[in-house]
Amino acid sequence: MSDPVPEVPPPEAPPSAEDDHRLYAGRKQIYVRSISGYFTNWRWALVWLTQIIFYGLPWLTWNDRQAVLLHIVERKFYIFGGVFWPHDVFYLALLLIVSAYSLFFFTAIAGRLWCGYACPQTVYTEIFLWIEQKIEGDHNQRMKRDKAPMSGRKLALRAAKFSAWGLFSLWTSFTFVAYFSPLSELLAAVPTLAFGPWEWFWLLFYAAFTFLLAGVLREQVCLFMCPYARFQSVMFDQDTLVITYDEQRGEPRGVHRKNEDAKAAGKGDCVDCGICVHVCPTGIDIRKGLQYACIGCAACIDACDQVMDKVGAPHGLIRYTTEHALKNKWGNKEILAHVRRPRTLVYGALLLVVISAFIWGLATRVPLRVDIIRDRGVLGREVEDGMIENVYQLQIMNMTEGARRFNFAVEGLEGLRVEGDNTVSIGAAETQTFILSLRAPTSAGEPGAHKVFLTTTAEDAPDTRVREKTIFFFPR
Ligand code: SF4
Ligand code: SF4
Repeated sequence: MSDPVPEVPPPEAPPSAEDDHRLYAGRKQIYVRSISGYFTNWRWALVWLTQIIFYGLPWLTWNDRQAVLLHIVERKFYIFGGVFWPHDVFYLALLLIVSAYSLFFFTAIAGRLWCGYACPQTVYTEIFLWIEQKIEGDHNQRMKRDKAPMSGRKLALRAAKFSAWGLFSLWTSFTFVAYFSPLSELLAAVPTLAFGPWEWFWLLFYAAFTFLLAGVLREQVCLFMCPYARFQSVMFDQDTLVITYDEQRGEPRGVHRKNEDAKAAGKGDCVDCGICVHVCPTGIDIRKGLQYACIGCAACIDACDQVMDKVGAPHGLIRYTTEHALKNKWGNKEILAHVRRPRTLVYGALLLVVISAFIWGLATRVPLRVDIIRDRGVLGREVEDGMIENVYQLQIMNMTEGARRFNFAVEGLEGLRVEGDNTVSIGAAETQTFILSLRAPTSAGEPGAHKVFLTTTAEDAPDTRVREKTIFFFPR
């Protein structure tokens, strides 16, 4: 016979008459109990992965510069070998669409995976909780200390916790700013604190934001600020995997006494220990059914599985399952078979199309941009050798990380040519604007406007070529 579960929480106090007449309920402090287990390990693996990427990326170099730098001042985005400009916003738009469809697709299959494992609010709350537990102890100690009057030790622990949170928040905001302002310049400014005004603003704002959201507000963000929780249900159907308490197996709940045959006594597997509630970061009781406040972190699954080990019952009283699976007593095979359904197929197909468009766009992107504007002040004039000259303003963006020479070719009129040197050198990731003169024999066209084309080609890469249309004007 297995051991009885040691901890049974006091029953929840019923709402008082005063509570009933209050318009707004006060915040109930949640003391999250730490837990270990299969899903907790996955969550921590994702915490490590996302944070190694976030804190590590600004330190990576590529071609002697920061590998990822969204340089606001220069209005250029350096992402490994690519240099992107504001007009490349098309790729950002595609990336946002990919993110949205990924969210729809994975939510339809497995519920709030994003919230439970990868959302920054979850990740930073987890880290802040870990710091809190290391300094102030587990939930019981924190609860007792909060109720106790202020003492020197309590003050010292609070100060240590807030200082650790503060330092971590500053490190986070420093990393965040390093994505938009070169890390080397930020590091050079640290000893004298000589940051620029907008850097100061974001360093302080983002640090305060991190501290407030992950240290103070925590579950309040998920419950009252995040819009996703409110509309997630439209992406769910009866075949979506959600974290569910198996009521048929668990009820009637009750403490299993030592040496008692719970089944014979008519009791379900739930021993009403409340540990699933203690580990819940939003403080809900999953046994009351699916609730919008459930962020899908699966901490209650790990907690309940440990309890089941102690009472000698199989895992899975709380588990990932679907409404249909629960109703029809399906196993994993049937659940998997229902992943493929119209909703997921449509989301999956759309996702595939947008990802393909994104990859195709990047693969065929020409790292050169040319803008040609006709000088409207001079319509076209006859020059010394009987030719007609038109003047243009040409802007060339070299979107690569190396200096390049470009040459020009013109077409559209018999004898049309570039006057003077028809090559130009442009530095790495630079833009140059200059005057270009085109000349054509008087006999090449009737008076009026004629369509002509200018092709700009990189000398070292003939595939890097842009053909632009413009107008050549013959005076009357
Ligand atoms: S569902 Fe599991 S963890 Fe929750 S009270 Fe019942 S036995 Fe305890
Ligand atoms: S009910 Fe379970 S899965 Fe939902 S938030 Fe609470 S602990 Fe996480």
